[in-house]
Formats: sequence, structure tokens, C-alpha cells
Amino acid sequence: MREKLLALAALQKVDVEVAALKKNADAYPKDIGELEKQLAAARVAVDAERTRLEELEKQRLNLEQTISDDKDKVKKWETRLTEQRSTREYSALAREIDIAKKGQTTMAEEVVELGRQATIQREVVRAKNTEFNEKSKGLVEKIAALKEKLTAAEAAVSALDGSRANAASTVDGALLKRYDVIRKKRMPALVGLVAPGICKGCGMKLSAQLYNTLVASRGVDQCPACSRIVYAQEVLEAPATK
Ligand SMILES: [Zn+2]
Repeated sequence: MREKLLALAALQKVDVEVAALKKNADAYPKDIGELEKQLAAARVAVDAERTRLEELEKQRLNLEQTISDDKDKVKKWETRLTEQRSTREYSALAREIDIAKKGQTTMAEEVVELGRQATIQREVVRAKNTEFNEKSKGLVEKIAALKEKLTAAEAAVSALDGSRANAASTVDGALLKRYDVIRKKRMPALVGLVAPGICKGCGMKLSAQLYNTLVASRGVDQCPACSRIVYAQEVLEAPATK
């Protein structure tokens, strides 16, 4: 009977190890996701400044085009001006030309202002970009390190899968089935009873008779309170005579 117990205890040792590894491995994807989010946010911040610069340059180009079109229009008007015979029509057109030219002056001033703003914005983009490059370098390194750890943890888990299969193959079939059912709900599924019969899983005081029986049989039973598989702890603590 003691062999059965030892085999199950060995299996549980592997399961506990696997659970600990998986718990670690499960944290990595979350941490990686968090860092990737930070990286994306930093990139968005730089892109926003770059977009602002593009907007300013687009506005400036549009305005320059408007001025150029307006100048063509005025040039035509000036030609027409020379053909005017009536004084009234002449002065009306001359007035239009004057207004248009004033408008061009205002637009030209706006072009200069937009250019000035673009120069400032170009500097902002440059600074933000430098900042991003420094920040992203650190983040990318951290992400790579975590991914490496994740791969290692996954490799360790699959290596233990082999050990688990070996350990499980030595456990009594019916006992293994019971153990697997319990361990899905509570780990450890196999626990010792401390003399005179306290379950180490749930702390319930069980009968001394059950304890004594388990010492004599060197076998296992079930805790009536928590349903875990129990054995008398001293059986595993005793030197292996059988
Ligand atoms: Zn119990």
C-alpha cells in the first residue's frame, strides 16, 4: 500500500511544480500586453504631433495656391481695366482690384505666420521623436526579455508534461482517477493526517480510529469534510522499510 501512496505523492509533486510554473507563465502575456500598450501610446503621441505639422504645411500650400490663383485673376482684371471706357465702370473695377490686392497681402502674412508655426512644430516633432526613440528602446528590450521568459516557462511546462505522464503511469488507476477529479477543485488533492487525525487540507479533526487504521494499512482514505485523499503523515515520514 505504501508504494501506491508514494507514487501518488510523487505525481502530486510534479503537479504542484507545473501549477507554479503556469502561474508564472500566465502573468507574462499580461505584462507584455501592458508594455505593448505603452509603446503604442507613445507612438500615437508622436504621430499626433507629426499630423499637426502636416496640417500646417498643407494649410500653407493651400493658401499659397489661393494667392497664386488670385494674382492671375487680378492680372486679367488689370488688362480689362485698360479697356474700360466709362469712368464709373473703370473706378468700380479699380476698386475690386484694390480690395483683391489687400486680400493678397493679408493672405501673404498668414503664409508667413503658418511657416513660423511649422518651424516651431517641426522642432516639437523632432524632440518628441527623440523622446519616443529612447522610450521605445527600453520598452522593446523589456518586451523581448519577457517573451524570452515566457518561452522558457512554456518549455519547462512541456518538459514537465513528460515527467507527469511517467509519474501518473505508476499510480493505481482508480486512485489516479479520484485524484484527478479532486485536484481540479482543490490542490493539494493528497494531504497528510497529523496525529491524532487532523486533516492538513481543511484542518478538520477526524477520528483517531481512522488515523490508526491508515497507519496500520499504510493506505489512503477520503477526508469526510473536504473530500481530499488522506493518509497518515507518519507513514511517508517513516524511513522506507517496505
Ligand atoms: Zn479535509
